Amino acid sequence: MGELIDGKAVAARVRAEVKAEVERLKAERGLVPGLTVVRVGEDPASKIYVTGKKKAAEEVGFHSWEEHPDASITEEQLLSVVEKLNEDPAVHGILVQLPLPKHINAERIISAVRPEKDADGFHPLNAGNLSLGKPGPRPCTPFGVMRLLREVGCNPAGKKAVVVGRSNIVGKPMALLLLEAHATVTLCHSKTPDLAAEVSQADIVVAAVGVAEIIKGAWIKPGAVVIDVGMNRMPDGKLKGDVEFAAAQERASFITPVPGGVGPMTIAMLMRNTLDAAKKA
Ligand code: NAP
Repeated sequence: MGELIDGKAVAARVRAEVKAEVERLKAERGLVPGLTVVRVGEDPASKIYVTGKKKAAEEVGFHSWEEHPDASITEEQLLSVVEKLNEDPAVHGILVQLPLPKHINAERIISAVRPEKDADGFHPLNAGNLSLGKPGPRPCTPFGVMRLLREVGCNPAGKKAVVVGRSNIVGKPMALLLLEAHATVTLCHSKTPDLAAEVSQADIVVAAVGVAEIIKGAWIKPGAVVIDVGMNRMPDGKLKGDVEFAAAQERASFITPVPGGVGPMTIAMLMRNTLDAAKKA
């Protein structure tokens, strides 16, 4: 029976580490890290995510602000908001909450954030640095997964890792981070002909698809570490992951639950990225 990976507990530990470093920064340099979240319009899910991010930022001792323009804001006006934050020395991290309204080109807005203030690690320069193996902020969800692996003593070096899903925010950076940690990485997607065959060879499985229980328990290699990034809202309102949990747990050595696995790590790593940006300011 695989052991549960308690993402809530690990995330609390990451936040406590950040908090301790913030106190040191304040004492030694009189510096308080600042995070601004930009939320455009009234997307209900975004409101929940942003509330969680602001709460975590306050808890670790950051200054935290929200820019909340109306959904009718133009792309040029939103670029001016980002530019103002780029110039503000009290702001070390900027996060533009996605999705943005359809009339705004999200790529253009993300590219306008100064790379040193890119708390999400989504700027093309930072994506490039990750693929070159150079330092920089890492996308928070895969960065959190790497921390979870470390917490359970899973060193990816020499292991076979299979990532399912190749989005720019999860799957692709996940594969690069595992590669950086010396795993042999296979990146699967919707055109992969035999997902079962790929997954069944993996010592580490990361599922980031967005289809409930697409990864069957019977595919899991005995002893594998299984990380489920998926968050699928079911008709009964409950959240389900991308992995068939109970059957996978019988074969895995460690497995993340949904909820309470990867989810809490994303916000915790956002705090880490913002702190690191402030330390370099
Ligand atoms: P996304 O942009 O929709 O990407 C989904 C990926 O899954 C795509 O690469 C797609 O392949 C692949 N895929 C779709 N159907 C497939 C199939 N039948 N077999 C194999 N691969 C398939 O999603 P995302 O933003 O990466 O998010 C993935 C999941 O993680 C979602 O449930 C999301 O809610 C969750 N998530 C959780 C967190 C967190 O904090 N826990 C953060 C971000 C996302 P193609 O590229 O070929 O289309």
